[in-house]
Amino acid sequence: FLKGKTALVSGSTSGIGLGCAKALAAEGAAIMINGFGEADAIEAERRELEALSGAGAVYDAADMSKPEEIAAAVARCTAELGGPDIVIANAGIQHVSPIEDFPIEKWDQIIAINLSSAFHLTRAAIPGMKGKGWGRLIYIASAHSLTASPFKSAYVAAKHGVAGLAKTAALELATHGVTANCVSPGYVWTPLVEKQIPDTMKARGLTREQVMNDVLLAGQPTKQFVTIDQVASLALYLCRDEAAAITGANHAIDGGWTAQ
Ligand code: NAD
Repeated sequence: FLKGKTALVSGSTSGIGLGCAKALAAEGAAIMINGFGEADAIEAERRELEALSGAGAVYDAADMSKPEEIAAAVARCTAELGGPDIVIANAGIQHVSPIEDFPIEKWDQIIAINLSSAFHLTRAAIPGMKGKGWGRLIYIASAHSLTASPFKSAYVAAKHGVAGLAKTAALELATHGVTANCVSPGYVWTPLVEKQIPDTMKARGLTREQVMNDVLLAGQPTKQFVTIDQVASLALYLCRDEAAAITGANHAIDGGWTAQ
């Protein structure tokens, strides 16, 4: 149902972004992927997406902490693929540390990648979406856009900010056929989660098993990690014409975490 549409997914060389890119490509969307990684692996992914969609797939290496590179990626997407009709602002990083020890450069980096990149993508994509009278802005936020956990100050602040940006974009674009929504997962088993286990062990003095069961899944009533496919399916639904009235909302997909 996305034939003729183009999607730009930030941070799509791994995890949730890659899952979203595949789901959109399988429905026929041309895709711009983005993120860091091995050149060969990225090229293999690009080819797979191209084969899945039958439309174009382009990789852009824009660093989502750099506003001018983000604007250039959107311009390239417009020139080569016909403009992003769908933007999935997904790129994100994490750092786990008490506030008083939180490295200032980590704070700045997380705010830039997890929050400001969503603004820069939105800002650059809006004129094209307005021009077509159709668009989908999807922000992969987090349960941490709705609630906090200790030792994740920058991440929680950035994700709450993304939730505010999504609501504002929804109001500004409500009469233009453009929706803006947050998808807010609980813990999804991806490299981002795997990488924070050692720091959480250190910050809380716990073993790996204790971090998995007593920290990560402690707040998730289902006691299951959310899957990448489940998150991608929700993002895909928001792209449907049936979802035209869903805007300015923050969709939790968190095994009941934020119901508590
Ligand atoms: P991941 O580490 O698997 O993927 C992150 C992606 O972002 C990678 O492609 C990476 O290359 C890219 N990236 C990082 N820094 C970048 C930069 N400066 N410029 C461009 N790309 C950059 O992580 P993930 O778990 O798939 O997370 C994706 C999003 O989902 C993030 O915004 C994250 O906060 C959010 N999220 C994840 C979980 C979870 O449990 N995994 C839960 C809630 C929300």
